[in-house]
Amino acid sequence: MTLTPALTRHLNNPELFSDLTSMRSLGQPSVSRTFQVFNPSTGELLAELPDMGVAETKEAIDKAYVAQAEWAAMTARARSDVLWRWHQLIVDHTDDLGAILTAEMGKPLAEAKSEVSHAAAYLQWYAEEANRIYGETISAPSTDRRMLVIKQPIGVVGTITPWNFPASMVARKISPALAAGCAIVLKPAEQTPLVAGAMFALAEKAGFPEGVLNLVYAAEGDAVGHELCTNTKVRKISFTGSTEVGRLLMRQCADQIKKVSLELGGNAPFIVFDDADIDAAVDGAIQAKFRNAGQTCVSANRLYVQAGVHDEFAEKFAARVATLTVGDGFTPDVAIGPLIDTRALAKIEHHIGDALAKGGTIRCGGARIDRDGTFFQPTVLTDISSSMRVAQEETFGPLAPIIRFEDADQVVREANDTIYGLAAYFYASNLKRVWRVAEALEYGMVGINTGRMSSEAAPFGGMKQSGIGREGSRHGLEDYLEMKYLCMGGI
Ligand code: NAD
Repeated sequence: MTLTPALTRHLNNPELFSDLTSMRSLGQPSVSRTFQVFNPSTGELLAELPDMGVAETKEAIDKAYVAQAEWAAMTARARSDVLWRWHQLIVDHTDDLGAILTAEMGKPLAEAKSEVSHAAAYLQWYAEEANRIYGETISAPSTDRRMLVIKQPIGVVGTITPWNFPASMVARKISPALAAGCAIVLKPAEQTPLVAGAMFALAEKAGFPEGVLNLVYAAEGDAVGHELCTNTKVRKISFTGSTEVGRLLMRQCADQIKKVSLELGGNAPFIVFDDADIDAAVDGAIQAKFRNAGQTCVSANRLYVQAGVHDEFAEKFAARVATLTVGDGFTPDVAIGPLIDTRALAKIEHHIGDALAKGGTIRCGGARIDRDGTFFQPTVLTDISSSMRVAQEETFGPLAPIIRFEDADQVVREANDTIYGLAAYFYASNLKRVWRVAEALEYGMVGINTGRMSSEAAPFGGMKQSGIGREGSRHGLEDYLEMKYLCMGGI
């Protein structure tokens, strides 16, 4: 069994995705162990998949290693054509991929479909970018020499993705790697392997040569991750997930000086200055905080609001948050789905408990919702200080703590006082302030008067312990290319 009726009843083409365990990209799993995937809104069983391990990972790496040479030898145009076909198939099956995503992850169906479109946008971008891999010529310091730089694919890439954006993370990693001429072994998150499986089923229809894309399902990440990091045929690891696991993978890669791209945790500040358009800031904060129930690495984790506009902002924001509907992602007009599991619920409760004990106030929400599934009320806290847990740690849920501030220089210092450096947002209108604050924030991405900035056309990634490397744009392609210097003498 792969997909159960609890999932296939939501699909237009159930036959296309009904068996995600007999694909070429999965190889021949010899394991008899399986693991199960559940809907976090209902607790229903959605699928049972093979729990693959070191042997299957080795087999996948060997296949990728052979196929990569063939893939890299194809013309850039030919690679681009296959990526285009995959893009079109994903666009054509947006509804079904969105339904699979909502079922296994919980996010509202409209948000899930928008994620699938975002995933398709990466494929489109890198289908185009595949044709634009350029080298350099260098003016040589002597007349009898010619010097140039060529770009070549890194080789086999091991990719490990998280559950919160299970379609777009796959596309964001895989499409630049494929455009560059790399081959892939992917291990999707155990909570959300089905949309990745469905995307691979479509990739096979698109016509990737056998072995270029390889999928490893596993109930836990450690054994597969260790093999990917320590197998010499894998030349790069591309990981999105927690900083803790990113650190572990980097250590495992250290012996071979293996290249790593890491997209890790965040603790995004969202700053509202007193010259901001407050209604626009409320809109932006709703987007930046509550998209995906707050389970995004770029989620506004702490809201700093300047004293002169604090009360107006807090009132308007809490009033809007109180109207957000929570429920099963398949119910129309639901804005917030369930959290991924009960551990996530416990973490929010812990952050709220710590804040209340230290003087925080609940403005709305504050509790679990008494029904099946892992639902939590969207919550706003005020009277928060930067030293509370809720401002220090990534909550990863629908909890918005508001911190009052007086001084602009001080707020930038507090915003930067974290191990993370992924995304920051601020709302202001004074041009000089906009420039100064944008330059002073120690973050890889800064949203100015907007709560949403992720795009296939722009470099996504973080400073400090939020990661290494960038995904998206031309920079994302460079991360999968080796630079080789050629020097020709005796000319
Ligand atoms: P996680 O690190 O627990 O898991 C991510 C992936 O790593 C999963 O596929 C998991 O199976 C695998 N994994 C777990 N332990 C492993 C090990 N020992 N070896 C190899 N692989 C292992 O993270 P999560 O809870 O799934 O995701 C949430 C985190 O991801 C948050 O911190 C969030 O900020 C971060 N995130 C970052 C970005 C970004 O682009 N920077 C995007 C999304 C999520």
